[in-house]
Amino acid sequence: MPVKECIKHGAKLYCFNKDDKTVSLFSEQKIDLKECPEDVINAIIDVAYDVKMIINATPIKKRNTEGIMLARNCAEYNGVMKKLKYFFVYWVWQFPQMLLGAILVKILKAEKRTITTKDGLQIDHWYFKRETKFSRFISGVSLAIFILLSDNNNDEDTICHEYGHSRQSLYLGLFYLLIIGIPSVCGNLWSRYAHKDWSDYDRHCWYYIILKWEKWADKLGNVDRIAVLNRILVRQRLV
Ligand SMILES: [Zn+2]
Repeated sequence: MPVKECIKHGAKLYCFNKDDKTVSLFSEQKIDLKECPEDVINAIIDVAYDVKMIINATPIKKRNTEGIMLARNCAEYNGVMKKLKYFFVYWVWQFPQMLLGAILVKILKAEKRTITTKDGLQIDHWYFKRETKFSRFISGVSLAIFILLSDNNNDEDTICHEYGHSRQSLYLGLFYLLIIGIPSVCGNLWSRYAHKDWSDYDRHCWYYIILKWEKWADKLGNVDRIAVLNRILVRQRLV
């Protein structure tokens, strides 16, 4: 039985004769350790420390400590690269929205939550109570990793839509606020001001179908807007 399995890289690590203090690790497919996911490398290191292993892992083709050292170096390399990548992708490429998001989390005293969507996607978001004039005005905003949603606006479709904005931020980086943020705020304010007398359904149609950046966010967040609109229509008819 494999002790660890990496489906992506087709690697299966087997462990035998643990009591004899020997272990063999086999990979069924050639693994480039630099490409090797961190959890697989960690598995190699864990087992190595556990049982003072004899490594017999292809394609390392080295025995004993050399193999362990190689795995350890790769784990460190992957760890550093991961942190650097995170720093550049979020705190450099998306700096303005990250900063704004972090400030809003503090001001709104938002709490982090995670939902698992029907597609199995885990989305982190920050939840806040609409206690002040400011928090009532915001209702929902997406700033890089910070998806901020109020207590009356946090259903799965909204979270997925905001996740779509979060992905737009990833693609557009420093230009996100200019291309998406400002039009989004303007569209939102215009809708609140000019569509006061419109039905819920009409307001939703205008906002999510006509406004291209909102439609794009729906697409990236995998939101079935037609289904949402149909639900609103049914609700409206029932009232
Ligand atoms: Zn939106």
